[in-house]
Amino acid sequence: MSQSFLPPTRLLMGPGPSNVPKRVLEAMARPTIGHLDPVFVAFMDELKGLLQWVFRSDNTLTLPVSGPGTAGMEACFVNLLEPGDKIVVCRNGAFGQRMVEMSERIGAEVIVVDQDWGRAVDREAVARTLAEHPDARVLAFVHAETSTGAVSDAAALAALAIEHDCLSIMDCVTSLGGMTLEVDDWGVDAAYSGTQKCLSCPPGLSPVTLSERAAEKIRARNYPVQSWFMDFSLVMNYWGGGGKRAYHHTAPVNALYGLHEALLILKEEGLESAWRRHAETHQQLKRMLEGLGIEFVVPEGERLPQLNAVRIPAGIDDAEGRRYLLEEHGIEVGAGLGPLAGKIWRIGLMGETCRPESVTRLEQGLRGLLG
Ligand code: PLP
Repeated sequence: MSQSFLPPTRLLMGPGPSNVPKRVLEAMARPTIGHLDPVFVAFMDELKGLLQWVFRSDNTLTLPVSGPGTAGMEACFVNLLEPGDKIVVCRNGAFGQRMVEMSERIGAEVIVVDQDWGRAVDREAVARTLAEHPDARVLAFVHAETSTGAVSDAAALAALAIEHDCLSIMDCVTSLGGMTLEVDDWGVDAAYSGTQKCLSCPPGLSPVTLSERAAEKIRARNYPVQSWFMDFSLVMNYWGGGGKRAYHHTAPVNALYGLHEALLILKEEGLESAWRRHAETHQQLKRMLEGLGIEFVVPEGERLPQLNAVRIPAGIDDAEGRRYLLEEHGIEVGAGLGPLAGKIWRIGLMGETCRPESVTRLEQGLRGLLG
């Protein structure tokens, strides 16, 4: 007879998921109710308010897409791009590359602004490219490149989009809840995130917010959105509010309880306090790593606090080192992706994981590894 699966408890110090507080897991274990139950409908309004709060936005079109970060990403691209539209995509890592691939599949004309992996997007290069392509309709960029640990100046990039009359799409999967992020103040048109990073919720939902400009573009489309599931004009009949809730797809009820609880926890701490905690714990990690002679990939000033890409210490085998940390110390760290595979490790300090105790435990593990 098969047995229930009992996963081990790990310290999740990779690129996500991060550790999930017991309170969130308990919230997810509450009774499932119908997704059109009046009690659930009232809960959805509250959840939407919490999402607007964390995004720092008054956008009406704010909702958790049912699916991981990639689903929110794809939803933004398929809604805001039509075949033949010109888009400028900033590519400084694996998730910028994913944006390029999605745009190509939609049949958009894609102009790529490349930057070395491990560096921030170059604002001047983007400004030049937008000036060369006045017919570009959308500018897309990743705020926090989880594949490399580099942060880009999202406020400046969103301002460029406004200046050049483009809509902006911002990937904030790893930044939301972990560092300064101001959707309305920066004038971002579409932002998508994930639950499993600095919100410390299990993976599987993608908070998304769209400005009125973005909503207008969707209303004015020449072609229907190619994906029925992700067509925001349909989803909004369910998430739109105003008392009108029509069936679109069966909402992942218990997962939404978890997101609601995670956002409550963040609200109790305060958003700025959480941003500060990430910045301070990153400094502690930096001192610890430097003490062990471990080097960062990204230059100081362009580093994410919540995702630290470091060179694999000399003489340590990539897979064997990570196996040791996992099996002997219960700590997960992430491998490198793409051109950085086998060269770097990615050490996450996201959400619940971002505590001084995590740094102390990792130090013990690394000392054991380095002998
Ligand atoms: N964008 C960024 C910056 C990410 O870090 C990730 C996941 O690591 C994604 C998008 C995709 O999210 P998911 O893996 O939840 O689909």
